[in-house]
Amino acid sequence: MKACKTFALVLIALIFFACDSTKKVVATPNAIPGKDDGIIEVTFLQMNDVYEISPSLSDNIGGLARVATIRKELLAKNPNTITVLAGDFISPSVIGTLRHEGKRIRGKQMVDVLNTLGLDWVVFGNHEFDYDDLADLQARLDESNFTWLAGNVRLKGATWTQQFFKNRNGGTEICPDNQVVTLKDADGTTINLGVFGVLVDTGRKPWAVYSDWAESAQKSYAEFDPKTDVVVALTHLNVDDDKKLSAMLPEVPLVMGGHDHDNQIYKIGKATVAKADANAKTVYIHTLRYDKNKGVATVKSELRKVDGKIADEPATATVIAKWEKIKNESLGSAGFDAAKPVTTLKQPLDCREGIIRHQPAPAGAAITEAMLFVSKNKPDCALLNSGSIRVDDVLSGTLTELDIVRMLPFGGAIVEVEMRGSMLRKTLDTGVSE
Ligand SMILES: [Zn+2]
Repeated sequence: MKACKTFALVLIALIFFACDSTKKVVATPNAIPGKDDGIIEVTFLQMNDVYEISPSLSDNIGGLARVATIRKELLAKNPNTITVLAGDFISPSVIGTLRHEGKRIRGKQMVDVLNTLGLDWVVFGNHEFDYDDLADLQARLDESNFTWLAGNVRLKGATWTQQFFKNRNGGTEICPDNQVVTLKDADGTTINLGVFGVLVDTGRKPWAVYSDWAESAQKSYAEFDPKTDVVVALTHLNVDDDKKLSAMLPEVPLVMGGHDHDNQIYKIGKATVAKADANAKTVYIHTLRYDKNKGVATVKSELRKVDGKIADEPATATVIAKWEKIKNESLGSAGFDAAKPVTTLKQPLDCREGIIRHQPAPAGAAITEAMLFVSKNKPDCALLNSGSIRVDDVLSGTLTELDIVRMLPFGGAIVEVEMRGSMLRKTLDTGVSE
């Protein structure tokens, strides 16, 4: 790196943010006459890091109406199907930054769609703490019909901490560290299934306080009644920590994780650690088979691509269409002309996270050049966190105003600062090491 005495540095200020409920998932006990064979299968439909409700525009991959169809098909095969999202979903997104009925949308669209889809469990991710105002997160909690697990994060006041909660039916429902649900299959095999949730501590806010995720996981595990037959984990951790968690609690057969945006699966001893692709481009379908007599759990996992071969589930598709319409109207009233061309790309601009988060990419160069162009103090360089580019798509042809908002939905300010070369080096080194 070229040594600089002093220079102005341009940074995009990023907004980071983070959530619960206690709905018990109890499958229909559709028992039929027969002998309890002591074996039960539980199906988990896993998503993680979902910011978009619709398929990507370039390749038509993803889309929550399709995930809802997969869920219905799994439920038809096995009533003991549980749908989970391993954190990061109320922010960021284009729709989330817009206004509707005088208020910022801020993830309301996602909770609405996930309620209709029939989501059962989430764990808080760091992006659930993106919004500065606690009222935004609280509104999303209150609106949601699913359970938010939050083992190692607490709501913090001036002199107190407490569990996050939902306002529900005039009372409150806490976001539990863990919970146990009772499941029964057709021949009457009944188990108590435990789940706990832990997350990274990077979604910092004055009203949130974290404890150590590993201690929280161990505490949750120890709290389960001996009658709990099998325990699974829902996490939003770096993959190395997911592996550590699995090694620490080898009796947990399945760790469903998030935070990483590319699909990956590992066997740690006999346990499975899995993450799907962000934005529901894929989902994991795990079949957990538990033999009560032997006390043995086995997991089979299938990664399913969410593409145009899967039909939209009508009810979810209707809710998504409602929000897409709100998006277009709101963009218009915010002064954006969604379809207005900004430029024509000579070649496709690859903004997929698998590329831009791991290597120098033309998308980053284009944005930093634009930052330098609009800066006031003619800075020597511009810095951009690749995580602030959210479109996760290949853009080509005409780049519209909507594409720009899709690329940079956080909407933070550009900040110009002076710093020494040593500080720049430290900043860049931190970027590489994270
Ligand atoms: Zn995350």
